[in-house]
Amino acid sequence: MTYVVTENCIKCLHQDCVTVCPVDCFYIGPNFMVIDPDECIDCAVCVPECPVDAIVPDTDLEPGDPWLHLNAELAKTFTNIVEAGDPPADAAEWKDVPNKIDLLDKG
Ligand code: SF4
Repeated sequence: MTYVVTENCIKCLHQDCVTVCPVDCFYIGPNFMVIDPDECIDCAVCVPECPVDAIVPDTDLEPGDPWLHLNAELAKTFTNIVEAGDPPADAAEWKDVPNKIDLLDKG
């Protein structure tokens, strides 16, 4: 099991989650963050920290869900982040906007 960052994070990127993760397993790209599934210890403390409810357990997703693959893949190329930076100035405008997967910047 692992926790997974999903679509709501794209272009919101609030980063509150990274301050509570005990194993520093968040990785950040140009407009999205991911969790490394090999490092996550399933503690769930990051879930309530996300203001846009982007983090879910993998058990909530169907097998083959694209976010499972994208977290594992992008954790290998994104940058480890342990301290929250400033979210984008327009973060609030992107909350709950549908179909943001097309805007995902893999860097
Ligand atoms: Fe980190 Fe725990 Fe969230 Fe996994 S569930 S990403 S270990 S805070």
